[in-house]
Amino acid sequence: MRTSRLVATLGPAVLLACATTRPQGTDVPLAARVQGPGLLFEVVYSKADERELARIESGLLSVGPRLSRWGSFREGVWVRVFPDHDSLERALDRPGYPWLRAWAYGDQVLLQSPRSWNALEPIDEELNELLAHELTHSLMYQLIEPVDGPAWTPDAPMEEPPLWFREGMASVTAGQGHRRLSREDLSRWVTAHPGADLLHPTAELYRTEKEAVYGAAHRTFDLLIQVCGYQGVRDVLRGVRTGARFADAFKAATGRSLSDFEQQTIRARFAPIPSAPSGAGGP
Ligand SMILES: [Zn+2]
Repeated sequence: MRTSRLVATLGPAVLLACATTRPQGTDVPLAARVQGPGLLFEVVYSKADERELARIESGLLSVGPRLSRWGSFREGVWVRVFPDHDSLERALDRPGYPWLRAWAYGDQVLLQSPRSWNALEPIDEELNELLAHELTHSLMYQLIEPVDGPAWTPDAPMEEPPLWFREGMASVTAGQGHRRLSREDLSRWVTAHPGADLLHPTAELYRTEKEAVYGAAHRTFDLLIQVCGYQGVRDVLRGVRTGARFADAFKAATGRSLSDFEQQTIRARFAPIPSAPSGAGGP
């Protein structure tokens, strides 16, 4: 399910979107290529979602400026549009996540058609945020993939960055802070749930306490940027790409131990972390 490598195909800054429509029944997938500066997507959808294509294309093309702070895609991304929530859950084999609207891998995004969201708010804005969020995940996976391609096997799977890093990076990049719990709400949540690890949630905590998990991820990643800037995050990703364990890449790029940073963040209830005391000596 990989599209061709992007590197050779990045042309001038001309936006291009073309759709191949075929006059078959509703079950035959249709495909549209969407291409912008540094972006290449292949959207696969069914006839029932033909009228959603324009807003999906527009959302895909809008992500470029947000994502560019981290680097460039190394290959294109498939975007598979599912007509409703049930078909998305079946494709993911992940039942019981009524709030889930999309899922991302390095080379593909699975998207529940906005047609079936029953959203109350203007749908384009939410869709653009969602696509920026999911494509940040795809970009992150592409950026940490070893230069020579994935070396991961079932016996030695890829070491995923912590959930707060993945979801926080996506949420911050997509500008979703306005959807997340405030620092005060998160602080109350932490106090009310002693023992729950919001930064490394169990599958059940993730499923049932999505607001707290995503809120914590967003605030923690925000704090990380305050500590080391975008460059620090890029350095972490580059470290993983060149074979370092995530915690080692984190330490090398930020000068802080990963577990110290996480513990300090929770202890301070997501308040800004003071910089390490820098002694001044001498006469
Ligand atoms: Zn996400």
